Amino acid sequence: MTVKIMTVVGARPQFIKAAVVSHVLERIEGAEEEIVHTGQHFDANMSQTFFDELSIPEPKVNLGVSGGTHGQMTARMLEALESEMMERKPDVVLLYGDTNSTLAAALAAAKLHIPMVHVEAGARTHSATNPEEINRICTDHVATKLLACTEDNLENLNKENLAEKSEFSGDPMYDAFLHYSDLAQRPNLVGVVNGEPVELPAEFYYVTCHREENTGTDEALLGLLDALSSLDAPAVYPVHPRNRSTVCRLAQDEENDFSNILFVDPVGYLESVYLVNHAKQIITDSGGLQREAFYAGVKCTTVLDFEVWPETMVQGRNILAKPTKTSIRNAMSVPQMVDGTYLPFGDGKAAERIANCVVELAERR
Ligand code: UDP
Repeated sequence: MTVKIMTVVGARPQFIKAAVVSHVLERIEGAEEEIVHTGQHFDANMSQTFFDELSIPEPKVNLGVSGGTHGQMTARMLEALESEMMERKPDVVLLYGDTNSTLAAALAAAKLHIPMVHVEAGARTHSATNPEEINRICTDHVATKLLACTEDNLENLNKENLAEKSEFSGDPMYDAFLHYSDLAQRPNLVGVVNGEPVELPAEFYYVTCHREENTGTDEALLGLLDALSSLDAPAVYPVHPRNRSTVCRLAQDEENDFSNILFVDPVGYLESVYLVNHAKQIITDSGGLQREAFYAGVKCTTVLDFEVWPETMVQGRNILAKPTKTSIRNAMSVPQMVDGTYLPFGDGKAAERIANCVVELAERR
């Protein structure tokens, strides 16, 4: 029996999770996966690089939807995804995470009565102002099957009366990190302002920050950059396209001295894993990087008002900070203890559970 699985992806973290699951699906007889790329992330170093280096099957189609307001982006994706689903007639739709692509695909599949599996279900920030929270809640409530990365996420689903359709899978990001750490590559860094090669220092901090809360105003971004300027080793900061122009403007302003910060283009996943594993500490507002810091046992400071992954916020390992020098430096100075027996993200076999669940659901159709 052949089953047709439509995987919808659009953003960098989804490519990484989809990679490990796709590789398992490839080995299951009768499972045919078709990847649909919404186009949410489109720069080569935010998209194609991941397909190439993680050997993800080429998308059957790229819908080319990016930019605009949340409403505009979601609406355009919804319309395009509905057409794709009507034409391709998948037996099951596979969704990851909390982006606008996830929400649009969930709504389209629900209205067409196509069963769907949501991976990374039950993650909650409990913050009404976090746009991804709305995507998470709506997707979980319309999805057919919910797969949780942690027991805490499973408990969140239970509290929303979704226990019946929920299961623990473990975190496919953890699978990816375990697998690709062996293949990690020392990065070839390129300066974001001048396009010149940048030498990776022997000791460095790894920084990613791109959320609206931290980069939407000069004040917030300057608080972060001030903190990075005061560190005892350079900060390697791959700049997300979303805040590239603001960062470049501030970096070039002669009033600012950011010589301790290496503003570089986004790096590939294998290079990012190298940076995680070799950094003195990590400073980020990314949900993925917080978890990767935790997997690697590298101390993390999260510049956000809310916890996305409370399981990492233990033993001083990940601490919230405001985008100010004092708050970030205070969080960084708290020592961490790493208990290697505490493994909330599963056993590194989440991809197998996800793939099996997807195929089973498709076969029941
Ligand atoms: N990442 C990467 N290159 C970079 C910065 C990050 O490959 O230049 C990876 C990082 O290792 C993590 C993921 O991208 O796995 C996080 O993506 P992002 O911050 O865009 O999304 P979020 O985690 O906030 O959903």
